This record gives sequence, structure tokens and C-alpha cells, in this order.
Amino acid sequence: MAKTIQAIRGMNDCLPEISGTWQKVESVLRQVVASYGYQEIRTPIVESTDLFKRSIGEVTDIVEKEMYTFADRNGDSLTLRPEGTASCVRAGNEHGLLYNQQQRLWYMGPMFRHERPQKGRYRQFHQFGVETFGIDGPDIDLEVILLSARLWKAFGIEQHVTLQINSLGSNEARQAYRETLIEYLKARADKLDEESLRRLESNPLRVLDSKNPAVQEAIADAPSLLDHLDDASKSHFDTLCQQLTQAGINFEVNPRLVRGLDYYNRTVFEWVTDSLGAQGTVCAGGRYDGLVEQLGGKATPAVGFAMGIERLVLLLTTLTEEGQDNSAADVYVTAMGEDAQAYAVEVSEHLRNTLPSVRIMMHCGGGNFKKQLKRADKTGAKLALLLGSQEMQAREVGVKPLRDGQEQQTVAFTDLSATLASLLAE
Ligand code: ATP
Ligand code: MG
Repeated sequence: MAKTIQAIRGMNDCLPEISGTWQKVESVLRQVVASYGYQEIRTPIVESTDLFKRSIGEVTDIVEKEMYTFADRNGDSLTLRPEGTASCVRAGNEHGLLYNQQQRLWYMGPMFRHERPQKGRYRQFHQFGVETFGIDGPDIDLEVILLSARLWKAFGIEQHVTLQINSLGSNEARQAYRETLIEYLKARADKLDEESLRRLESNPLRVLDSKNPAVQEAIADAPSLLDHLDDASKSHFDTLCQQLTQAGINFEVNPRLVRGLDYYNRTVFEWVTDSLGAQGTVCAGGRYDGLVEQLGGKATPAVGFAMGIERLVLLLTTLTEEGQDNSAADVYVTAMGEDAQAYAVEVSEHLRNTLPSVRIMMHCGGGNFKKQLKRADKTGAKLALLLGSQEMQAREVGVKPLRDGQEQQTVAFTDLSATLASLLAE
């Protein structure tokens, strides 16, 4: 036998047992963003390597060690996108969507990072994100947070996620804070781990969110970014906090929240859960007012977020029944005997005409009644239709509920759609 070929490590197949959950998630996401007037943008999966280097930052985990970068046949350096924001800004600049305009955009699709695969962390994963451009006030920060909060409600998991927010201030204020922080960290260099020491000069803010408990302990009294904000950022942040409270959104101010991408300023936030083990961040975002200009456009304020769909799907399957439903059909049509077969086709097509949102699966491949019912059960269908030559002659259909103790009944062809609709609505 030929050797089988396997998928690339950390890149998953989405199999039928879970693809139904993915589709539901995607349709809820689409519906919620539409309800806020956001429009979809689709960008290529491959971009110039420079785009990510210039936006995410040279000394971030992503650019230093996680990108899938390769030479195109003509030698250009290309990269599989590790995130969506840079591409949105690139496309916005390229097509003149940003300057002097307001945009509310969303995207969804695969991202690629060469990380160590584990639960909730993969090399190909999927993000859903929103990006807004041209609005600089806290009102739009509030809107994107409200939008994300509505998503948790729509999925029924609002009890399992909490919002953390922080402000990174202006670039100047952060630069000044950076110096203070470096000085503080240097005084404790003997207590830092190798990674933190490496970051001390290149990206000291990242030391603040080190996952190492020893480092966390050593820097417990580090100066807080929130005490070093410029006045404008401070009042932006205070207003946002007030508006969140007014809107009934619970949040926690986390002065250690810094995010792993360089382009953020002012508001940053994360939705975290303790139901997923170490990979607890489901959604993360913030303001990136400098990025459009940094990528060659005219200065344009911006704020957005991205969420990991795998983590969301994991949450749904662990926490809700919604995530468990992987049925393939609602109604399974069985037929006994050759002439009943033609009747089954007629009945099935009739139902697909009259009940287009109901999933009708018709048995194929013959076999006895028992075998057909076993198949019906396996699809997860709620109802089986039983068709034999007697039913065909009488233009009737046997309707057998599969999931509860209800009685089997015989229904006239002409009443079938209405009967099924009401049985399925129960
Ligand atoms: P983490 O701290 O978990 O590494 P991150 O800060 O690198 O996350 P972002 O770049 O902000 O993550 O991406 C936004 C969201 O995308 C994350 O909150 C997470 O839900 C998801 N995500 C990021 N990397 C992965 C991955 N390798 N596999 C699955 N989901 C991911
Ligand atoms: Mg990461």
C-alpha cells in the first residue's frame, strides 16, 4: 500500500462532525456585524513580507519567529498573513478607502503562525475581526467593544468571558514610560528570565505580560503605564471607562495588558476566559492610530479587534449544547421497494421546494427497513419518513419521530409540508 500523506503539523482539517458548528458561528458573526453596519473586506492570504515587518514590528514574537515566509519564484519575499489588520490597512490605502472617510469593516479567514501547536494554538488558525477607520473618539472604541459583547450574548457564553482594558497612551508618552520601565527592569535584571532580559532593551513593555510567575513576582511593583499617560489619552480612557459602565459592560482595568503587536496606542482590550486553560484570550484588539500613516497613507485613526474562531468553537463545544449539534439532516426519507423509490424522490424534492430551510436527506443504496432506520438515526434527523408501495398508492407518508416518544402517524401528501413544519418547530 502507498504511504499516506498527512496534514501539516498544526494545520487542521475541519471535519463534518464540527463543520456545522463552524457554519453556525460564522453565520452569527455575519449577522451581528451586519446589525452594526459593518461591511466585509476580503484580502489575499499572501502579502509582501515587508507589510508585516513594518506594521507588527521587527522585535515581536510574530515577526521574529512565527511567520511563514518564502521566496516567490522571482525572488520576492512573501509571507502567509499572520493576522488581518495590516492587510486591511494595505488594501484601504491602496484603494483610497481611508483618507477623510469613515469605514467600518470586518473580515474572516485563515491566518498562519509557526507556533508550538497545542489546544487553542495552531499554525493555521482562523480569525474574525473588525477594523474601523477615521474616527478618533472613545465612542467608536465603545462600539467595537459593544459589538464583541453582543457576540458573546448571541453565543450564550457571556458568563464565561471577561473584558480587560488598558491604555497605552500616545507614542511619546509610551516612549517616556519605556525609559522609566527599562531603568526599573535593569535594577532587577538578576530576577528576570532569559526572554525578559532579551526584551528589556528591544521591547520592554512585553516584559510586563511575561507568563513566567517568577518574573511577574519580581516586577510586581513596576511603574504603571496608566500613571504615565498623556492628558489626551487619559481623558480618552476615562471617558471610555465611563461609557462602558453606562452601557452596562463589566470590565477590569489591567495596567499590564500591552498586546504583542507594536502598532497599538491608547485603548487596548482583551476578552479572556478561564475555560480554555492556557490559551485564555478569545478576542483582542485596540486602537492603532499611527498604522495607516506608517504604511504610507495619510494619518487616519483606527480601532479594531480580532478573535480566534478555533477558541470560540472550543468554548461553544465545552460550554453549550449549541456546539454539540452535528446532525446532518432534519428529515430522513426511507423507501421500501423499487416503485416506492420514485415516490421517495418525488416526496423529497417536493419538501425541498416547500421547506427550503429544512434539511431533507433521502436514503440511497437500498437495504432493508431496519438498515435504513439505522442510517436515519445516525444522521441525527428528528423525523424519518416511511414510504412503501401502500403509501405510494394512497399518496400518503408515514412520519416517524426518532428523538422522542411521539407516535408514528400517517399523513396525506398534501398535508405533509405543514405537518413536518409544525413537528420540527416543537
Ligand atoms: P496569544 O497571547 O494567545 O498568543 P496573541 O496576542 O498572539 O494571542 P492576537 O495576535 O492578538 O493574539 O490574535 C487575536 C486572537 O487570535 C487571539 O486572541 C486568539 O484568540 C487568536 N489566536 C492567535 N494566535 C492563535 C493561534 N496560533 N492559534 C489559534 N488562535 C490564535
Ligand atoms: Mg501569540
